[in-house]
Amino acid sequence: MPVKNIPRQDGRLARRVRGILPVARASWRAVLDLVFPPRCTACQRQFEPADDILLCPKCRAAVVPPEPPVCPRCGAFPSPETNATSCRACRRFKLAFDTVVPLGLYEGELRHFALQTKRRSGGILAASLAALLVQRRAELLDVCRADCIVPVPMHWRRRLHRGANNADLIGRAIGSRCGLPVHAGWLHRCRSTPPQANLGPRERFRNVRDAFAAGSQRLDGLRVLLVDDVLTTGATCSEAAKALKGVGAEWVGVAVLARAQGSVAM
Ligand SMILES: [Zn+2]
Ligand SMILES: [Zn+2]
Repeated sequence: MPVKNIPRQDGRLARRVRGILPVARASWRAVLDLVFPPRCTACQRQFEPADDILLCPKCRAAVVPPEPPVCPRCGAFPSPETNATSCRACRRFKLAFDTVVPLGLYEGELRHFALQTKRRSGGILAASLAALLVQRRAELLDVCRADCIVPVPMHWRRRLHRGANNADLIGRAIGSRCGLPVHAGWLHRCRSTPPQANLGPRERFRNVRDAFAAGSQRLDGLRVLLVDDVLTTGATCSEAAKALKGVGAEWVGVAVLARAQGSVAM
């Protein structure tokens, strides 16, 4: 066999394999769907997925407000009579981040699902909700022009207790879909703080003051997308953003599954 024919035959074989692969993949998926019918990761009901996000239409509709008039600064969902310039949450506290991109409001079904993600088995649901965030808030995420993702870190003692940091899982899901690198090591929680849940707004800011430290790397000129599961007053994300800006980050935005509002947030 002449040597010069080998590459041509290799090319033909590669093309044939490339042609077969999608068919094989689709067949394998069909077999898997038959043996393990797809279930919604939130309500566990069987459904016919229209894309690769394992959330049924009913759960999607329940967690995403149709067209949210979101405050571009703090991610609050203003009531129809307010707008971004008269956002009460922004006026009350000095926030170190530049914008917030939320999937939805921390109430009803989304609150219920966000609490489920905090369980040891909640990782898949967290990743599904993060995928939905990328799909439904694509325009807001595009405007961020982020260079990378940094998940809000958890203190090692709480991580040991929980098993995983939700922010890491959400950050990785967003990063893989947006093609952004995830740098979990760029920010550390340098002290353990009591849970924010039972504190008032001002106490929340005091509670997390100087709780984060950036690593030794400089982030000069970088646009960083911080990722967390829930944002309430913004105290935690603001402290984390302050630490990132302290080592040069030019801009810090925040992506969260849910934006909590009401008496505590305001
Ligand atoms: Zn469902
Ligand atoms: Zn605001």
